Formats: sequence, structure tokens, C-alpha cells
Amino acid sequence: VTGQREEARRCLSTETFDLVVIGGGATGAGIARDAILRGLKVALIEKRDYGSGTSSRSSKLIHGGLRYLQQAQLKLVFEGTNERALLVHLAPHLVRPIPFLFPTYKGRFPTLGMMTAGLWLYDALAKFRTIRHKRHSARSVYTLEPELQRDKLSGGIVYYDAVTDDARLTLENLLDARDQGACVLNYARARGVRRDHGRVAGLEVEDLLAGGSFAVKARIVVNASGPWSDRVLEAIGVPPERPRLRPTKGTHILVDAKRLPAKHAVVMATHDKRVTFTIPWRHRTVIGTTDTDYQGDYDRVAATRADVEYLLATANHYFPSLGLTMDDVLATWAGLRPLIATEAAKTGDVSREHEIFVDQGGVLTIAGGKLTTYRRMARECVDDVIRELKHRGFAEEVRPCTTEDRPLPGAMGLGEHHSLEQIALEVARRADVDEEVAHNLVFTYGVNAPRLAEMIAQDRRLGARIDPEMPYVWAQVDHAVRTELAATVDDVLGRRVPLLLMARDQGLGVAPEVARRMGALLGWTDEQRERSLAQYEDVVADSRRFRTEPAAEATA
Ligand SMILES: Cc1cc2nc3c(=O)[nH]c(=O)nc-3n(C[C@H](O)[C@H](O)[C@H](O)COP(=O)(O)OP(=O)(O)OC[C@H]3O[C@@H](n4cnc5c(N)ncnc54)[C@H](O)[C@@H]3O)c2cc1C
Repeated sequence: VTGQREEARRCLSTETFDLVVIGGGATGAGIARDAILRGLKVALIEKRDYGSGTSSRSSKLIHGGLRYLQQAQLKLVFEGTNERALLVHLAPHLVRPIPFLFPTYKGRFPTLGMMTAGLWLYDALAKFRTIRHKRHSARSVYTLEPELQRDKLSGGIVYYDAVTDDARLTLENLLDARDQGACVLNYARARGVRRDHGRVAGLEVEDLLAGGSFAVKARIVVNASGPWSDRVLEAIGVPPERPRLRPTKGTHILVDAKRLPAKHAVVMATHDKRVTFTIPWRHRTVIGTTDTDYQGDYDRVAATRADVEYLLATANHYFPSLGLTMDDVLATWAGLRPLIATEAAKTGDVSREHEIFVDQGGVLTIAGGKLTTYRRMARECVDDVIRELKHRGFAEEVRPCTTEDRPLPGAMGLGEHHSLEQIALEVARRADVDEEVAHNLVFTYGVNAPRLAEMIAQDRRLGARIDPEMPYVWAQVDHAVRTELAATVDDVLGRRVPLLLMARDQGLGVAPEVARRMGALLGWTDEQRERSLAQYEDVVADSRRFRTEPAAEATA
């Protein structure tokens, strides 16, 4: 394990690439995977962990975006629903349809009539490929969700969208790219473009773990750094003439599912006509999100007390009998939407479309869009890269894009005779773990879950739960380090085994043991281990900062 990073760094500094991607979020990982599958030589660098930016801080929905109908952005909805159908098919272990309930109230926007018309259009744009929406009477709605506000309830609609684990979806793209031959390095920051006779010749990269810097030789630089895009362009010496992005901040809070026991994802319209959700997620319920302009540190985006109060007030309005308070909040996360700058006055009106900008000779920036459309964005970007390469006499023999048909690795070979449920049974038997653990392994690693079952069969201690309430087991920690490029405690507990979000203590209790195991595998010194642990404790502290903010000074 210890040599993996050194090997990646050696490969990056000795070979010549067709493209080097900056940013290992969903967009960058998608681009690396698409490009390597077409036969290009690909490098990718990420300044922290893969998926640690916006791609682990979303609402985790793979959706058409019902609210874009309100803004008549039909193309966006069409693209989103189409991608949703594809991802449910190409990654069923990670992207699962769930029912959404949109309750409507007399005298409030939107009315049941409006919603019915909207949902017909939504299902039609999805070419009626999902389970169709169903209209319900008020009585039927409160049978479905008994805790919902009943006063003036006029009815509701149940429709289907999909949920995922955003960080895992990103990681699986990245790992597939690596397995196909892309050279990838985490904790590696882009510092400057290298030029040869004025033309891009590569990137200067700083190694944030091992120290020092090195050069990557590449014909094209793709800036896929999401909300950081403008800043990265400045940092690498090609500043944009005007800011191209207007990132807005979104916060989520997480409560115990016992405190908010909704079976459906519930759509909640706010007083300012925004759409928010409660979403069932394992043993928890997610409430989100806010949408505010942001001027703070991009690397430490956190929930404020005002964000948390706004979300609790919305949830309490819809579920008045529950009386949720700040003490119910187990975890929070916040991120920046990489939105393209427009003249829109309200943050919610800023377009969710994406754009590819071509800068001075060889730097392409792709920004905007959504997690849902990452595959499509990647395809367009790689098309542009190939056009540029061909124009310069390279990339003569490339293959067409295959990501529309090729399953993600965890779904490779799945079929009617080999279902995820069957694999879960096999895993439970081979590893001698309970059903919930087996289920979690299969709906995380897909067809690769038996590899972890085998690890557990060899050493039973690896099948023990890390946290008694959650179905994560120790084998996942070892696997994260050995095969999934986890390099810090935060990489493991923040995204690969996300106790940061799910555990009551956010993983603080087990973090020292995780650090010890990682240290043994990665050959850490005591000082490295303590540093990684302290850094994780900082991440947890940031997510809890809202608790200590005085109410009067809280700002969104
Ligand atoms: C609150 C919120 C809710 C959302 N909900 C949804 C949803 O439900 N469904 C949906 O489809 N979309 C949703 N989105 C949008 C979606 O999350 C983003 O569009 C998507 O994750 C962006 O991915 P990205 O790869 O472009 O950016 P990121 O994931 O931010 O990746 C950019 C990466 O670049 C790295 N980087 C930055 N600077 C450098 C440098 N100098 N060198 C190297 N690397 C660098 C960063 O560390 C980061 O990992 C939501 C967004 C937010 C904020």
C-alpha cells in the first residue's frame, strides 16, 4: 500500500498525457473515465480527496429537477430525467428510485392542480420510463405520512426520483478511470500552467502530502474544479476576464429517522417559494437545503446557526407535532453550487446549466451543471478535447464515447440471473454477517462486495461493526486504504465509511483506531497519525460550529 502514491507521482512526472484534469469531483472523475475509455492518455490531480468538494455535499438526488419546470427549463429537466434513467440502469447498486410526496395546501403555492399538470410534464419528459406519479386526496396523504401538517391539506402527489451516495458515485468513476490506466493523484494541487512556445505543455503540481512540486506534461489542461474554477484559473496563471461563476451555498442537516419518521422523501415549499426536502437516508432523515450567496473560505464551508434554524423551521412547519430542535441535529454538511454567473437577482434563479469555456490555447474550463448530469458533461468536454487534439494533429485513433452503455464497475455483469439481492445472500453466508451488513456491502460495492466478504471470511474480526448502530464493518476501512486511495482519516470516515454523517458521535470515538489501522497500512509515523486524527477532529468541529454561534450574530 505504501508505494501506491509514489508510483502515481512517478507516472505523472515521467509520461506525457493528452489531457490533465484538475479536480476529482463528479465532473473531473467523469471526464477522466470517459477520456481513458476512448483511448486518450489521461492524468487527474485533486487537491484533497476525490469527491471531497461539492460532490459529497449535495442533496444526493439524481433527478430531473421538478423545480426547473417552474422556470420553464424543459431542456434541463429532459436531460436530468434521461440521465436518471441511465444511471439507475448503469449503477443500480448506487442509484435507487425512491418515492417523493409533494403535499399541497389550500391557499398556498403550488396548488394540487398545478402540481398534477407539472408531474404529467415531468413524467412525459422522462418518456414515462419511471413509475408514474399518483394523485392523492388529503385523507390518503395523511395515511401515507401521519406526522404531516393536516391544517388546510388539500391533497398531494407521489412521484419517483432517485437517490445516491454522491461521494461514492464520484469515487467509482475515478477508480474505474484509474483501473483503465488513468494516472490519478490526490492531495496534489495545480499551481501553474507550463507553456512551450506559448502553447500549453502541462501543469506545475504541488504535492500536499509528500511535499515538493513536480511537472505533468500534457497537451491540454481541463479545469474541472467546480466552484473553485475561477480561483484555479487565477492560480495557474490564466485569470478569467470576469468571474464566470456565482457559487451559492447550500446546507443540509441530519436527524435521527426516529425523530422524523417519514417513509417518503417529502417536498416542502418554503415561504419564499423555494423547494426543500426531507429525504430518508439509512437510519437518518436529511433536511435540505438552503440557497444563499457566499463570501467565506471555499475550503471550509459550514452550516451556520441561521441555516440550521431555517431548515428546522421549515421541517417543523410541515411536521408540527415533532418539535425538532437544534439538539436533534446529529450532523450537518454544506457546499457551494458551481453556478454559472448570470444577471439573476435571486440565488434560486441562477441557471443550473453547464458551460465549457476555452481559454488561451489549451486550457478548457467546464463548470456548472449538476451531479445528475456529470456523465453528459464529461462526454461533451471530452468531445471538445478530442476536437482540439485532432486540430493539432494528435488523437488520430480514438474510440467513440461508451459511457452511455458501459455499467459502472459495481454493476459490471449484473443481469437477470445475477441480481444484487442474490449477491447479498452470498455475502451474508460467506462472511457470516447479518443481513443489514451484507445489504450495505452490496449497495456500496455492487458485484465487488464478495471481495470484502472474502476478506472477512479470512479474518472474522473484519466483519465486526465499526459503530453498533450502523452497518459499516472494519473490512471497509482496510479496503478504503488498500484499494480506494484513502490517504487520511477524513477520507475514510468522511466519505468511504461516512460515520461523519451517520454516527451519533460523528465517528470521533472510533477515529483513533481508524488512524492506527491506517497508519499500520500506510507506514505513518506517530506524528503523521496524530496530524491526520487532528485534521478529522477539525472537520467534525466545523460541522458543529453552528452550535456555538450566538443566535443574534448568526448569518446565512
Ligand atoms: C447544497 C447542494 C445540493 C446539491 N444537490 C444536488 C442534487 O441533489 N442533485 C444534483 O444532481 N446536483 C446537486 N448539486 C450540484 C452538484 O453537487 C454539483 O454540480 C457537482 O457535485 C459538481 O461537481 P464538480 O466535480 O464540478 O465540483 P466539485 O465536486 O466541487 O469538484 C471540484 C474539485 O476540484 C478540486 N480542486 C479545487 N482547486 C484545485 C486545485 N488547485 N488543484 C486540484 N484540485 C482542485 C476540489 O478539491 C474539488 O474536489 C448540489 C450542490 C449543492 C452545493
